Amino acid sequence: MKREKSQNLFNKTLDIIPGGVNSPVRACKSVGEDPVFIDHAEGCMIYDVDGNSFIDYIGSWGPMILGHRHPSVIRALASALNRGTSFGAPTALETTLAKMVINAVPSIEMVRMVNSGTEAAMSAVRLARGCTGRDEIIKFDGCYHGHADTLLVEAGSGVATLGIPGSPGIPESIVRHTHSLPFNNIDSFQRLMDDMGDRIAAVIVEPVAGNMGLVPPVKGFLEILRKLTEQHGALLIFDEVMSGFRVAYGGAQSLYGINPDITCLGKIIGGGLPVGAYGGRKKIMEHIAPQGQIYQAGTLSGNPLAMAAGIETLLELKKPDFYKKINQKAKRLADGLKTAAEKKDIKVQVKSVGGMLCLFFSDKDVKNFDDAKNCDLDMFAAYYKGMLKKGIFLAPSQFEAIFISAAHKNEDIDKTIKAAEKVFETL
Ligand SMILES: *Cc1c(COP(=O)(O)O)cnc(C)c1O
Repeated sequence: MKREKSQNLFNKTLDIIPGGVNSPVRACKSVGEDPVFIDHAEGCMIYDVDGNSFIDYIGSWGPMILGHRHPSVIRALASALNRGTSFGAPTALETTLAKMVINAVPSIEMVRMVNSGTEAAMSAVRLARGCTGRDEIIKFDGCYHGHADTLLVEAGSGVATLGIPGSPGIPESIVRHTHSLPFNNIDSFQRLMDDMGDRIAAVIVEPVAGNMGLVPPVKGFLEILRKLTEQHGALLIFDEVMSGFRVAYGGAQSLYGINPDITCLGKIIGGGLPVGAYGGRKKIMEHIAPQGQIYQAGTLSGNPLAMAAGIETLLELKKPDFYKKINQKAKRLADGLKTAAEKKDIKVQVKSVGGMLCLFFSDKDVKNFDDAKNCDLDMFAAYYKGMLKKGIFLAPSQFEAIFISAAHKNEDIDKTIKAAEKVFETL
C-alpha cells in the first residue's frame, strides 16, 4: 500500500502543527505508524490522499453513526448553508434539536448547547459546583471527559495512549479537588463517600466507559453511584458524549434504567459537526445564566449547521429497528473477531454494547483501567498495522472502541473478520 502523499503531508505538517495533528488521538505514534491523511469518505468507506480505501471503524470517533455523507444530512446542511452559517441570535433549529434531545433522554428536561464534549463536561461540573456550593469532584480512572483542567486526571483516550497521568499546566490547587477512583469498584466508592460524601459536588462517570477501550458497568456499579450521591446531596453526572444515541436512542441511562442529575452529550447529536450539550432537571438547569447566576456562553453555540446535521441524524435514528440492526452488526463483528482469534489461539476479551465494541488483547476479563493497561499493547500495535494494510481503518490505540455505522453492511463486516483472521495468523 503506497502512502507517499500522506507521508509528505505529515512531514510538512510536523513543522507547523504540534505532532502534525489537531488532536493527539490522530497521531499513530503508539502503534508505530504515521497518520493517514484523508481525502474524502462515503458510507462506511474512507479514502486517503494516495487513493487507498478503507472500511472505516473510527467514524470520526463516534459521531458518524449513519455513515459518511448520509443523503438527508447532506441535504439539511445544504439548506442551512443557504440561509447563513451563524447569526449570534437564536434560530428555530435550536428549539427543534433541544426538544428532540429532551424527548429522547429520560433525565433531561432542559438542555444547553455548546460546541464540544469538553465544554459540556466542564460546564456540567461548574453547574454542579455552583448548585451544591461544594468543590470536590469524583471521577473514575480511564474515563475521559474532555480536556478541562478539573477532569484531566487519570484520564482515558489519548492521555492513556500516551501513558501520561495528567498534564503539565494544570495547577495542583485545581486537581486537588478531583478524586479519581477505579471504575467498577463499588467498595472504594463507598469508602470515599463515607469519608467525604457531604463535601462532594458531583460524581462524573461514563456510564459505559468508551475511552479505555470499551468497559461496560458491572452490575450494581451505576446503582451505587445513584444511591450514594442522592444520600449525600451530591449530583450524579453521566458523561454520555460517546454513549448518548450510541448504545440506545436514550443513551446508557435508558439502557440501564438509572437517571443522572446532569447528562453531557456531544458527538452523535452534531451529526459530524462540532457540538456538545448538557442537560438535566429544570430545577438544576435553571441555575444557568441568563436564567440563573452560573455563567456559561458560546459565540457559535447552537450553530445552525450543527443543529441541522444533528436534527437530521436523530430523525434517522428514530426510524424503526435502527438500533436493532446496528446492534446486530456490532454483535456479528464482535463474535466474528472472537472466533477468529480463538482459532489462532490468541487470547482476547471482546466487549460490545449497542453499536460499539472493543477487542482487548488479554487473557483476563477487562473491568477497569488497570485491566486495560495490562493488555498486550505490542500485539495490538501489530494487529493495527496488519489491519490497516488490509484496508481496515481502526482507532490506533487499544484504549479506543470500534464504532459501527448504519452504512456497514454484513459483507463489510465479514470482510473485516476475514482480514483479522489473516492478521491473527501473523501475530
Ligand atoms: C469525546 C468525548 C469527550 C470530549 O468531547 P470533545 O468534543 O472531543 O471535546 C468527552 N467525554 C466523552 C465520554 C467523550 O467520549
